Amino acid sequence: MKSEAIPTLAAYDDAALDQAFAALARQAAEDASALDGSDAIETFRLEWLGRKQGRLNEVSSRWLKSAPPEAKKSIGQRFNDLKKQVEDLLEQATGAGPSDAALAAEAIDITLPGTRRLTGAEHPITRTLNEIVAVFAALGYSVGVGPEVETDFYNFESMNFPPGHPARDTQDTLVVANQERKSLRDRLLLRTHTSPVQMRTMERQPPPVRIVIPGKVHRNDAADATHSPIFHQVEGLCVDTNITFSDLKGTLDHAMKALFGSSVKTRFFPSFFPFTEPSADVQISCIFCGGKGCRKCKQSGWIELLGCGMVDPAVFAFAAEKQPAYDPKKISGFAFGMGVERIAMMKYGISEIGQLYAGDMRFLGQFA
Ligand SMILES: [Zn+2]
Repeated sequence: MKSEAIPTLAAYDDAALDQAFAALARQAAEDASALDGSDAIETFRLEWLGRKQGRLNEVSSRWLKSAPPEAKKSIGQRFNDLKKQVEDLLEQATGAGPSDAALAAEAIDITLPGTRRLTGAEHPITRTLNEIVAVFAALGYSVGVGPEVETDFYNFESMNFPPGHPARDTQDTLVVANQERKSLRDRLLLRTHTSPVQMRTMERQPPPVRIVIPGKVHRNDAADATHSPIFHQVEGLCVDTNITFSDLKGTLDHAMKALFGSSVKTRFFPSFFPFTEPSADVQISCIFCGGKGCRKCKQSGWIELLGCGMVDPAVFAFAAEKQPAYDPKKISGFAFGMGVERIAMMKYGISEIGQLYAGDMRFLGQFA
């Protein structure tokens, strides 16, 4: 790229001026067509538009300023047109961007598979727990929670497990060390059920109460296929005037149908829990064989699933120490509790409880 020097104008008539300016425009277009890379573009800019030695500056001084006054207007118009053309050429060269070869080298193949991010999903225990809570929420129950490290009073004594009572042996647990100087009822332990939240709730609010209490509990049980020293419960408590065993049966029958399907039947057997009187174990018709008898239900057609009963007046007496409205002569209530793992294992056909805690993505991925 080497442009010719600016010639001297031969004449000032339109034809001569058109010819002279057209020659410069051709020259600029020719120079611009050869541009490759930002250095060349900058050279082009300096050569044509540079303030001191640029060609347009030269045209201005040699053609415009020395022209006779009557020719200045027509030269000026043509000069402005030429300047605009050069600027357009420069803009095109600058805006053209990187070459095709540079683009090809940086190209991204959008058909390649991307980096896959794992989507979070609820753990089967969490999902089952939420399903159970949702069934009772639809019946107007709210959710109560409480501490996992609990006092002996709330975990045992207020739930009518007096000190030395043999029922305590069925719920052995871990206790916090070095508490011998505290009274027994203030000693801390890992709660064995979510029942303490029943008492904490009644102490805070007078009847009526309708709560479900989901949470983690601890027992000194040896781990096997269906037992774990840590597991989850959902307990429920309903207290109001004129609450009867029929209300309990109707509520749990509805809940089991909501959880396992409308064809599921329930039946109640006498049982014992310190905090309810009378107490019952609840069985549901086997969801695997429909009640005909199979290996899962040990050919009985029934599966035992939860415990329940009418709240023992002794429990209300503990609540009445802080909320006198819990007078067993005026109010009544029922409570129930179920193991979340057991229900999750039934719903999802899991045979080993330990798989729920192993954190193995190959196992958990099946429930995503
Ligand atoms: Zn069965």
